[in-house]
Amino acid sequence: MADPVANTGSTATTPDGGVDNLIQVENLEVRFYTQVGVVRALNGVDFNIPRGQVLGVVGESGSGKSITGLSIMQLVPRPGRVEGGRILYKDKPDSKTINILDLGRQSDEMRAIRGDDIGMIFQEPMTSLNPVFKVGAQIQEAILLHQTPNKQEAWDRAVDILDKVGMPNARRVANSYPHELSGGMRQRAMIAMALSCSPNLLIADEPTTALDVTTEAQILSLMRDLQSEIGTSIMFITHNMGVVAQMCDEVAVMYLGRIVERATVDDIFYDPKHPYTISLLRSIPRLGQKRGQRLEVIKGGVPDPYSTVTGCPFHPRCPSFMPGLCDTVLPIEAFIEGKTNHTVRCHLYPGCTPDSDQAVTGVSGTIPTTSKAQ
Ligand code: SF4
Repeated sequence: MADPVANTGSTATTPDGGVDNLIQVENLEVRFYTQVGVVRALNGVDFNIPRGQVLGVVGESGSGKSITGLSIMQLVPRPGRVEGGRILYKDKPDSKTINILDLGRQSDEMRAIRGDDIGMIFQEPMTSLNPVFKVGAQIQEAILLHQTPNKQEAWDRAVDILDKVGMPNARRVANSYPHELSGGMRQRAMIAMALSCSPNLLIADEPTTALDVTTEAQILSLMRDLQSEIGTSIMFITHNMGVVAQMCDEVAVMYLGRIVERATVDDIFYDPKHPYTISLLRSIPRLGQKRGQRLEVIKGGVPDPYSTVTGCPFHPRCPSFMPGLCDTVLPIEAFIEGKTNHTVRCHLYPGCTPDSDQAVTGVSGTIPTTSKAQ
């Protein structure tokens, strides 16, 4: 695992000393209406990404990480629906803030934001690359659409960006079809396409999970270099805490559609608070671990998407479970004492248990319903 303190990005500020947020997500709610019930994929997600920063979003499968990224792009697949909240976006520090959710999914403004302002890369490169067009032509097309109408200029830029992402012989690669490239090269080609318009925000959804460790290390270092060169903010979605340590400035830990802890990468690794974060960290191998020593596993699994969990969504798996409280009352988010950038949602910490008159008997994660799909 890389040293978490290797990443020392500083938070961008506005002229009045406030945080210069590129993206601010408030109370985001996403539901999937299926024949067998309603899946509450996101239950009031709040976070911000300051300009030029890397936010890691971690959690097990089903925690809502990818849906959060897709919501920002307005690409939540049907039968999913964003049902509440705001996604505030400011392309420059002095420009007007817009709520992305006010734009039509297929509107010209939204199309301009996708690709030009916000790029997304996926675990599987063929999600983005078209198998029947040459790699260079696909990057050229993106540049023609968003940046310059000059074809030769767009082609030259495509070759240049392929070179920047470390492609050996970029001109030859530009003239190749995706199937002629190795997995690592296809991944670089997809990153090149996402970066071709110098986006303000890059949403990277498990971009290196399918790669061998050498290629993964090369691609992570490349993304970090490009990020500091171009100033792109990155939302890095992953279940790999080692990658988080290497890449991120701040980390949001998600569980069943909620952020349960948010802090700087140092605090997450050296002073984690939420029992789920602690369990996640104990389940990864560490330097100095004794030979043959078993890794800890988080007991149980993420609940079935159609099941009902009352109280804290993590209570069926939590080693610190407090009967009568954790299984009945949904903890609220509160700052850790003495910290202005470390929040947690757990009854073990002051401020997280609502007063009895505002207590929520939380239905967390998902709710079953007998109603027909809408
Ligand atoms: Fe565990 Fe209770 Fe905290 Fe939930 S609220 S994480 S069950 S201690």
